Amino acid sequence: MHVKHGIAVSPGVVTGEVLVLGTEDFRIPQRFVSIDAVESELGRFRNTLETVWSEIKENERLASDRLGDQFGAIFGAHLQMARDPKLIAEIEQLISERSFSPEYACSRVLRRFAGELQNLGNQYHAERAVDIFDLEKRILRHLLGQRREELVHLTAPVIVLAHNLTPSETASLDRKFVLGFATEVGGRTSHTAILAGALEIPAVVGLGHFLADVSGGEMVIIDGNHGEVILDPDEETLAQYRELEQQVHSVSERLASLKTLPAETIDGTRIALWGNIEFPEEAEVCQGHGAEGIGLYRTEFLYLETNQIPSEEDHYQAYRKVISAYPDHPVTIRTLDIGADKVPETHDEIGDDIVNPVLGLRSVRLSLHNLPLFKIQLRAILRAAVDGDVRVMFPLVSNLLELRQARMILSDVMDDLEEQQIPFRRDVPVGIMVEVPAAVMLAEEFAREVDFFSIGTNDLIQYTLAVDRADPSVAALYRPGDPSILRLIRAVIIAAAKYDVPVTVCGQMSSDPMFIPLLVGMGIRKFSSTPHAIPELKEVIRNLTIEQAEQIAEHAESLDLARDVENYLRGELNRICPDLVF
Ligand code: PEP
Ligand code: MG
Repeated sequence: MHVKHGIAVSPGVVTGEVLVLGTEDFRIPQRFVSIDAVESELGRFRNTLETVWSEIKENERLASDRLGDQFGAIFGAHLQMARDPKLIAEIEQLISERSFSPEYACSRVLRRFAGELQNLGNQYHAERAVDIFDLEKRILRHLLGQRREELVHLTAPVIVLAHNLTPSETASLDRKFVLGFATEVGGRTSHTAILAGALEIPAVVGLGHFLADVSGGEMVIIDGNHGEVILDPDEETLAQYRELEQQVHSVSERLASLKTLPAETIDGTRIALWGNIEFPEEAEVCQGHGAEGIGLYRTEFLYLETNQIPSEEDHYQAYRKVISAYPDHPVTIRTLDIGADKVPETHDEIGDDIVNPVLGLRSVRLSLHNLPLFKIQLRAILRAAVDGDVRVMFPLVSNLLELRQARMILSDVMDDLEEQQIPFRRDVPVGIMVEVPAAVMLAEEFAREVDFFSIGTNDLIQYTLAVDRADPSVAALYRPGDPSILRLIRAVIIAAAKYDVPVTVCGQMSSDPMFIPLLVGMGIRKFSSTPHAIPELKEVIRNLTIEQAEQIAEHAESLDLARDVENYLRGELNRICPDLVF
């Protein structure tokens, strides 16, 4: 039994069989395939071999042309090996007779050959072993590439373990079959993590290297509440976690009954609980959890779904879908926040040559840099707004000029629509994400020019503490409870109050029940969170008085260490709602 500790990013406890998603850097994703899959696996292996042969031939040609025939001959030797009938027969035999996965069979046979060569004891043969490893890597790269594709076509429940999952891979996980996942890299508020929460798949990220020890098919436990992954658990541990799984399940069943009750404190203060979404379909999930609107629609995920730049119609249809779920409630559409870990590899025109994506041409900067792209989106938002209570929100605004320019483009787009006699809504409220410390420092100035603020704690923490939100090696430094973060939030609330500007908190901090008493005590009355967190947040609010929340905030704000703030808040949550602290 191996216990690994990582970062808990999506709650829930699950047990199941491992499916390892490999990359070319490590081998063997799965040892065995089911008997009825043997024929198709053989076919997959043969197709891969053909691709590998033509790839090597192309390399041979290129190397001969550019460097001379003696270099081309290196690849000639690879081709000879890759076509060796004895080698191929041996691999195919392992697949057909022992139900080995093609990856495992290739690796086993090629590594045995390599080992034999190395053992011959002379330099020349030892170097030939390197060629075999090269060939193994090439074949595996193709096989594993296909395997990642196959993630979409799972037929039995698994727990996915991978070095990394991109946001789009995560988005494509089928909840019916993927019980949970764990990755070696990733941070608490990376977009992969956020999506795991949205999909309600228990997940742990940032585990560090561990996949080399896993071959696939063994049992694993994912504890998305505590950030633990247990490989090959013993009977006692398994029983213990199955009980925890039950406990988590029964709490969430109890909380589901709160759906129709208001989010109101004991002393009668109403708190708005909205949902964060990435895809239009999630609007219904928000309804299911009792959200009273959409406080953050991350529209950039429209780009992550496809290789094409979405058209105005694509945007429009997506927005219409969300609005039709919430025709009489706020729908806050955030303009594209492409950049950082959300750069789609396929959109070269957007993500090319980025030196430091987190500080680069992302979000509103990108929109202002690419006006046609920006205008397409704004047109779609304004048109869709005819049917709902739509608000426009600009991300990552860091100076007033950006806000003014964005507003100017918005008004240009309105003029265009008017001239073209296309129906749209003119009086859409315009707000900004407050997620860069500069925006906090100028919050009063911004407050004079916007209709609302939404504090994005994910980026605010990243930029204030200089901690990459997606990097597990600095995850311990990523602290929502840091006194500097509390002071920034306080400063936004004070500035906004001067101009009567409503403030929402929409970063992950607002999805963690532990921070709710603090934020309510500081004066926040609107939260936008991961949909599945809404019942828990409501439970906290319904067990809290404003006076109690203010006392909690006062004490938390007097502490000078993130650790003390977080321990204190955890303790208070334990007193308010003990069954939310597992
Ligand atoms: C944030 O930064 O807190 C936020 C909500 O936006 P995103 O997570 O999409 O960057
Ligand atoms: Mg952000």
